[in-house]
Amino acid sequence: METDPKRIHRLAIRREKDNRNFLRWLKYRHPWSRRQVMELQVELANRAWERIDCRECANCCAAMQLQLTAADCAQMATAAGMTLAEFRREHSERQGDGLWYLKRQPCLFLRENHCTIYADRPSRCCGFPYLHCHMLDDIAGTLQQVPYCPVVFNVLEGMKAHPNLQRKRRRPGGARKPTAE
Ligand code: SF4
Ligand code: SF4
Repeated sequence: METDPKRIHRLAIRREKDNRNFLRWLKYRHPWSRRQVMELQVELANRAWERIDCRECANCCAAMQLQLTAADCAQMATAAGMTLAEFRREHSERQGDGLWYLKRQPCLFLRENHCTIYADRPSRCCGFPYLHCHMLDDIAGTLQQVPYCPVVFNVLEGMKAHPNLQRKRRRPGGARKPTAE
């Protein structure tokens, strides 16, 4: 199981296309039911969390760019002792998709791997990495998390390695072989 965030980031970027193809294949072409996929997702996530402690990792808070709602900005401004205008100017930025994000990483509320506004953290922080939701319902979102979250990375790698989830790849001449990483 990979636990080193730097190595995970490297591998996830390198495997992004393959990961996207795998998730699409699993969603649209594989005969497993949603329930079967979810059961495997939960099993693999539990296995990963036996080895990975979020309180030691904190990589989502340290490295991912947090998307903010208007309510998040107002709440964070209060927590930081700033006006909303000051917070927007200092700590948030609007990106090409028209949404607001924290300007810099790590998050300004992260101290020694702990969130200093834990009880009032933004809603997007609460359920992260959203493994209580079905990975295949938001493939784009899952792919964004893979390079940053060791648990999501290992869940996906575990799925790809499952003996009943081996894709076949066409070879010249029509012969097929399993995909290799
Ligand atoms: S608000 Fe807290 S939980 Fe959310 S990114 Fe910042 S430190 Fe992490
Ligand atoms: S949710 Fe993922 S990235 Fe965030 S602390 Fe836990 S293992 Fe690390």
